[in-house]
Amino acid sequence: MAQRLIVIGGTAAGLSAASKARKLKPELEIQVFEKSGYISYGACGLPYFVGGMIEAPEDLVSVSEREMREKRNISILIHHEVKAIDKDKQQVRVMNLETGEEKIWDYDQLVIATGAVPIIPPIPGIDGRETYYLRNVEDGIRLKNRTVNGGNACLIGGGFIGLELAEEMSQAGVQVTLTEQNERLLPFLKTEFSQRIQEVLAEKGVKLHLGKSVDTIKTTENSKTAVLSDGQEISADFIVVCAGVRPASELAAKAGLQLGSKNAIAVDDNMKTSDPRIWACGDCAETKNRITGKQDYIPLGTTANKQGRIAGACAAGQEESFAGVVGSMVTKVFDLTIAVTGLSAERAEKEGFETESVTIRKSDRASYYPGGMDNIICLIYEKKGGRLLGAQGIGSESVAGRINTLATALTCGMTVEEINQLDLVYAPPVAPVYDPILIAASQAMKKVERY
Ligand code: FAD
Repeated sequence: MAQRLIVIGGTAAGLSAASKARKLKPELEIQVFEKSGYISYGACGLPYFVGGMIEAPEDLVSVSEREMREKRNISILIHHEVKAIDKDKQQVRVMNLETGEEKIWDYDQLVIATGAVPIIPPIPGIDGRETYYLRNVEDGIRLKNRTVNGGNACLIGGGFIGLELAEEMSQAGVQVTLTEQNERLLPFLKTEFSQRIQEVLAEKGVKLHLGKSVDTIKTTENSKTAVLSDGQEISADFIVVCAGVRPASELAAKAGLQLGSKNAIAVDDNMKTSDPRIWACGDCAETKNRITGKQDYIPLGTTANKQGRIAGACAAGQEESFAGVVGSMVTKVFDLTIAVTGLSAERAEKEGFETESVTIRKSDRASYYPGGMDNIICLIYEKKGGRLLGAQGIGSESVAGRINTLATALTCGMTVEEINQLDLVYAPPVAPVYDPILIAASQAMKKVERY
């Protein structure tokens, strides 16, 4: 009889695992359970769906259930939630959410790809009506339906998703007030970078309340009021909570699997959990940080897809390893692109590195060529020897490519001296003769202490 692989979760990590396992083992029976009504969607596109740039939720879906079944021979049951895992009996208990019926399924191998869930801050009144979250397509549809009616929104949390939503919702005609309990936005960035984001938001009419938490939410028949820690009141028609995510690891924990960094499911380099027949991947699992060498929790779509492939390969019997991440991420707030890789200066110090940093500003093309926009690049590196530890950039879209180059340098363990010797492209409409990366590296070299 064919062996059965069960996958819990039908998006980035889960379907990457299922597809990879299918390629490697055509005879395997593969069953995916997904509790929502959608599979294979790009959650990363949800803010743009809410804002109206992407019209239909189906546009976010890359592979349909039918394609999965007919082309990849992978069976998917949507609206089916795995309620429990019995690792000793190698079984899962699954509920059909439409009928309430429960069934026990046996597995030979199990991949857990349950993702993450929004953090709900313990604010009295947060659960009332007209409170929205953004994690899955259903959340997106609900928020979009509210956004098209306009009005005032109070966003709680100014992380990447909060910022993307602030842009999209205000462009869609909503008056947005963003509250963030930290003193500045994205506090892992250099202070001047956070300030630039704050200026851009203010220029576009987004109201900001920084350094204050929302203490209570009062709901009346027609509106909501967020009461801040300093007593100020923000009146809004609806509230959107973007206070970060936590790993959806309860199912694994209840099954007796070991948890690790930030309560994500503990895994080894093969994405194997503490049980030899169970693998975990994506936002529910830990990931190895290549700079610190420690297990970390950095939930991103790029990582989920890659970890899913490793988990699927290993579950199908082919040992593959995930090399880890350096923590590269990018977003765009109106015309400003923000990209980072590696450690911030504060995190690097906390990890025990003695660091130095430089920040430079340079046009992203030849100074005489029209339409240029500055890139501001910050390099964080070891004081002794100059090994790169992290990089941050803000400016035009081209910042993303520069941070990608620096992510590559970071992965290769390059020093700022070696980065300064890189042969980078130049043409007046595209890049200046001395690329901002080279300018930053040459400045950094001056502060490196030799051994
Ligand atoms: P998820 O996408 O969370 O999928 C897990 C699935 O498992 C869910 O569909 C869930 O319904 C299902 N599930 C959970 N428990 C059960 C159960 N018990 N039974 C059955 N099914 C279950 N990342 C980037 O790299 N770049 C970006 O620009 C970016 N933007 C983002 C914007 C938004 C608004 C959001 C929400 C996320 C963004 N991300 C981005 C993060 C990225 O979307 C996630 O890292 C990625 O979706 C993780 O994939 P996953 O498969 O691990 O988890």
